[in-house]
Amino acid sequence: MPRSLRIAFIASECDPFIKTGGLADVIGSLPGALRRLGHEPVIIVPRYAGLNLERFRLRRAFDKLGVWMGNCLEWCAVDQTALDDIPAFFIESNKFFDRNGLYHDDTFRDYPDNAYRFGFFSRAALQLLIDLRQKIDVIHIHDWQTSSCAAYQKIWHWNNEILGNTASVLTIHNIAYQGVYPVDCYEYLGFQWGNFTSQKFEDHGRVNLLKGGIHYSDRITTVSQKHADEVRTPEYAYGMAPYLNIKAERFSGILNGIDYSIWNPEIDPLIPAVYSRFDMTGKATCKRNLQERMGLTVDATIPLIGVISRFASQKGLHLFAAAVSELMNEMIFQCVILGSGDPYLETFFRELPAQYPGRVASFIGFNNELAHWIEAGSDCFLMPSLYEPCGLNQLYSLKYGALPIVRATGGLDDSIDQYCERTGSGTGFKFFEPSPKALSNTVGWAVSTWYDRSGHFRQMQAAAMEKDFSWDVSAVAYEDVYFQALNDRMGSSGV
Ligand code: ADP
Repeated sequence: MPRSLRIAFIASECDPFIKTGGLADVIGSLPGALRRLGHEPVIIVPRYAGLNLERFRLRRAFDKLGVWMGNCLEWCAVDQTALDDIPAFFIESNKFFDRNGLYHDDTFRDYPDNAYRFGFFSRAALQLLIDLRQKIDVIHIHDWQTSSCAAYQKIWHWNNEILGNTASVLTIHNIAYQGVYPVDCYEYLGFQWGNFTSQKFEDHGRVNLLKGGIHYSDRITTVSQKHADEVRTPEYAYGMAPYLNIKAERFSGILNGIDYSIWNPEIDPLIPAVYSRFDMTGKATCKRNLQERMGLTVDATIPLIGVISRFASQKGLHLFAAAVSELMNEMIFQCVILGSGDPYLETFFRELPAQYPGRVASFIGFNNELAHWIEAGSDCFLMPSLYEPCGLNQLYSLKYGALPIVRATGGLDDSIDQYCERTGSGTGFKFFEPSPKALSNTVGWAVSTWYDRSGHFRQMQAAAMEKDFSWDVSAVAYEDVYFQALNDRMGSSGV
């Protein structure tokens, strides 16, 4: 049995404390799976204004923690609670985190001081680990927001008794967001000017935090094998392909798992009725309730397609917007859309139900309970992403028997098996070209399978619901990466 590791998860969000997307699901679940393997994780996140203090019973761990930035000393406090017995720490700084949004204001404009906010948070998290005085084997850092931890560890803490031998593993959840900022923040961040080079932090005269993190991390992962291959090519890498290729030997893909204690129709307390692949009666109830709640015609015989998404260009919903009228005119199906983001798509999907009353419904906003209802009440689930590092909703959809209709990219391609019309095998419907035509052909394929090959549809639902994407499998793959990172660390004297 491998030795037990102390692993610090340093991240900008964590479900159930605070969540905007899939990153939060990962930080909320992977530590638990690692603990089941015998490791000792701790979680460190910012304490945002939106945190529900009563629900989580936070207690003060440090009244005052001093954090040296490049050109000043900052102070913060630290709160603590436990997530299923895993210690979780919250860095409290009114100046940086006492705001409604995590990364942007109510109009989706990025906060102008994001480099300062997350640079500070990264440095504060390492200072907290030092002050806790327990050696840490691995810091597992996530996306541009905390990628700087790897640089801080190697530049500032290489000789520290707590962090000196610590290995860093950076997981890239979304390479399109790199934390690129004007150079004014560089002094504050304290990475030293000698490191402002095109191999490290410099990016066309600006500071690129993800790029620096890629350079300094001992191991890098992304959240599916297919996406790991994709981002080593210029088409998908948003400029990072050369830097990932330099570290090709230390870069791999691990598919996210999902937490079946939260996303499981057999026990889900949020849905109107529970069900399993052996007894789908409850799914029919969920569909009826969803149709009633959303103002759709209540009819079990019409296929219902769900969408839950951030409205960001990555998600390909403009393809659906371009195809939806033709689809509605040519086929009989219903659609429920839940999401928010891009103002054009918000208006489009807010107004769409009026054009197709009883057939299309939408809710513009974030609603976790409705997300569970949609998974449970839908027959199919649409994710037409232009790129999708892993994607969680298609994994939830498999478990809830809502057959995914996806573009074959990243984790969508890795996790969905294409339907075979001859045998009825497969767990979903994939298309390849990112075009409205390809999307509408594939939605048509799913709808015709519902009506004309209903035996195949049921067979696929059973196969989908049987799939196991639990964290226990992925946690073993992360464990391997941690040990590799530690080996790399032992063989090096820094970067
Ligand atoms: P991403 O992290 O790129 O947004 P993922 O598919 O990996 O996409 O994860 C999205 C997560 O956020 C899922 O848990 C999904 O249910 C949730 N989600 C996204 N939009 C909404 C919304 N409007 N309301 C409720 N949950 C949402």
